[in-house]
Order: sequence, then C-alpha cells, then structure tokens
Amino acid sequence: MRTTAQWQAADASHFLHPFTDFGALARKGSRIITKAENIYLTDSEGQRILDAMSGLWCVNVGYGQQALIDAATRQLKELPFYNAFFQTATPPAIELAELLAEVTPPQFQHVFFAGSGSEGNDTIVRMVRRYWDILGQPERQVIISRKNGYHGSTMAGASLGGMSYMHAQGGLPIPNITHIDQPYWYENGRPQGLSREDFGKVAAGWLEQKILEVGPEKVAAFIGEPIQGAGGVIVPPETYWPEIQRICDKYGILLVSDEVICGFGRTGNWWGCETMGFRPDLMTFAKGVTSGYIPLGGVMVGDRVAKVLIEQGGDFNHGYTYSGHPVACAVALANIKLIRELKLVEQVRENTGPYLAAQFKALEDHPLVGEQQTKGLMGALLLVKDKAQGTPFASELEVGMVCRGHCFGNGLIMRAVGDRMIIAPPLVITRAQVDEMMALIRRALDLTLTDVR
Ligand code: PLP
Repeated sequence: MRTTAQWQAADASHFLHPFTDFGALARKGSRIITKAENIYLTDSEGQRILDAMSGLWCVNVGYGQQALIDAATRQLKELPFYNAFFQTATPPAIELAELLAEVTPPQFQHVFFAGSGSEGNDTIVRMVRRYWDILGQPERQVIISRKNGYHGSTMAGASLGGMSYMHAQGGLPIPNITHIDQPYWYENGRPQGLSREDFGKVAAGWLEQKILEVGPEKVAAFIGEPIQGAGGVIVPPETYWPEIQRICDKYGILLVSDEVICGFGRTGNWWGCETMGFRPDLMTFAKGVTSGYIPLGGVMVGDRVAKVLIEQGGDFNHGYTYSGHPVACAVALANIKLIRELKLVEQVRENTGPYLAAQFKALEDHPLVGEQQTKGLMGALLLVKDKAQGTPFASELEVGMVCRGHCFGNGLIMRAVGDRMIIAPPLVITRAQVDEMMALIRRALDLTLTDVR
C-alpha cells in the first residue's frame, strides 16, 4: 500500500479533479479516501469520518450493502454489457423500467435511461423540443430554469443550471435557455418584510412574468429541483410549487422536476415533487437510483409526453452506449428493493427526518446561525455576522470554508455553499448517529466562532 504522500504525488501528477483549481490542489494534496462502511469513511491516515453528505448526495443506503455488491457481481458474470439500441433489451433493464413505473407517481409508466444526471437533463432538452416539434409547434424551444439551480455539467446541463461561475466558462448558456430568480426567502423575501407564504407566490410569479416576456408560444418547459441542493439546500415556501404548477398548466408548458437529489426518499417521500406538492410531466433521476454504487441516471417520461413520442414520434435520435446498462440496472433493482425492505422512506418521513429537524431547530440559539432549514434528510445552516439583522459575513472571510475546514479536521464531511453549511446524510442514519453528527456540527460551529470573533 502506498503512503498518503505517494498517493498525493501521483494524484497531483495525473488526475484533474472536477470543479477544482488544479494548481492549488496539486500544491495542497488531496485527502485520500480508502474505504467506507455504513455512514463512515476511512482516509489513508486511518481517520474515521462521518459522511454527512452521502458521498455526493447519493449513497442513500450507506456503504457496504452486500445486496448491491452481490447484484453487481452476479450480473457481471451473467452479462456484463449489452446495448439497447438495436431493438434489443436485457432483463435487468426491463425489470428496472417496470419497478420505476411502480415507485414513481402514476403518470409515469416509461423511462429513458442515461448514465448520469447531466445526461438525463440533456435528454430532457432533446425530448421536450422533440415533443413540441411533433405537435407542430417547433417555435416552442425555450426552457426556463432558475438562477443558482444545478442541473449538471454537460453543455445542456450547465446551461439549464443557473450557476453564473459555470456560465462564465465555455460560452454558456446554449441558446433558448433563460433563468428566473430562485425562491430564497431569507435573501429575497425577508428583507421586504414578506411572509414565507406570500414570498412563495411572488417568486412563482416571476415564472409568469418570464413566460410573458419570452412569449407563451415560444416556451417549451420549466425545470427546477423540488429543493435546490447544490445551490445550498434552499427549501422553497410551501406556496411556491403549487403556484408554479398552476402557471405551467395555464400556459400549457411542460413541468420538469429534477429529482437527482430529492428522489428515492431523501425528502421523506419517494419523490421531492410529492413532498412539495406538484405533478411533473418529466422527472430526471440519478444518484440515489443506485445509491451511487455504480453510475446510472435517466428520465421518467409522463403519459402526456410518452403518448406523443410513442404514437406520433417515429425515431427519437438520441441515446447513450450505457442507456440501460445491465450491471447498473441490476444494482438499481437491488437498491430499490433494499430501500423498501428497510422502509427507508418511511424512516425518513416519520423518524430520522423529524428528529433531525428538531436538532437543527435547537441550533438556532448558536450565535453564528442566522437561519436553519431541513426537509427530510437534507439540511442547511446559514452562518451570519449579525443574527438580529441577518447581516452576512464579508465574502473574502470565506466563513463557510473555515467551518468546513473544522468539520474535516474533526471527522465530519459537511459541505459549504458560500456561508450555507449543508448536509444530506445516508438514509440509513440512526437517531444515535444524528446525535453524533450534531455534536460534531456544534463543535465545528464553536471553533468557527472563535476564528471569526
Ligand atoms: N441535477 C441535480 C439536481 C444535481 O444535483 C446533479 C448533481 O449533483 C445533477 C443534476 C448532475 O448529475 P451528474 O453529476 O450525475 O451528472
């Protein structure tokens, strides 16, 4: 086994990491994660780390689940690959399509497989434009999404996303994608003295304004995450999504839910749209479908779109080598069966979700915490300079990164989005482990407070 320094040297010489300043990381050295079990990682120095981010929002059933390992091994022996292009299919892909139809809302009876969430969202762009083409309305090209939303890193995914730092590189967004502001009450509603409920309606109204500005006859779809994840776990007011639904219905616009993070139980229901109260025409999924054990993503296609594509569409000229990859599908089948067996969705809704909410609520007394939000097993703490006024810290202080450093140093993975500290622990986390996580969070907050005072 190589030493940490040897791993870091090889890593710095050859491996360009995603969303990373390559030069800075090469000078600093990566942390090398060598193994994991349940909700704990181990690094190359033997330190145990509580993974409060489920890898990257994906390891929902926790690490080391034998059922998933066995499913992959069996399928690798039986049939490691065959494609779905040439009027062929494999049993795991068919069975997974069937099972997804069962665990998704009733309008979803069909699935298009991809390899990731980004590829899923590229599929969405192709599919919604194709849908309107077939219906004789090719001018319906424009897709509306939100600033600070995240939909992946391919050209279409990054364009749908509303991350300005991503648009700044590579000439994005691609044409006919436009963005409205996010439903972030603390920043946009609270300073105006609006209640969360009133602000939810105002923020949804921005969609209608944008539709009228673009011209309703040109708008193809609206896409959003039920709860923005990478943007900082921003839970919209309860009034937001029902109003978005009403506006999409009014103008006949397709409604797309990006369930890459919220899907498969994260919010206490199988799907984030169920928690937030809307009925999408299309849903993107990835991550939790295999608990991240192997890459898989895709699009659930609702009856409205499926009927047109199937009955009038002819060839849909789109697909990936790994669409319906048999090993990935076999792992997804085992994963979904395990989620059911362990009753993880119910567990999040009735037990660990409400428990986490109470623990986060208790953190409101901490001098650094300006706002806290949770939904199911997603949570965010906003660190502010002055709680009473809600004054933020100067951005150059990078208080979120300071706090993240204390988390990492003390055996906890928590992510910083600006000064929002966010978590999304594995759905198998127990109440005792939530307590352990909360003690580590409080410690990191206290150490951060010492640094900034
Ligand atoms: N959509 C959402 C909501 C995501 O959070 C992500 C990734 O974090 C993606 C899409 C992109 O998924 P992937 O990284 O698998 O391409």
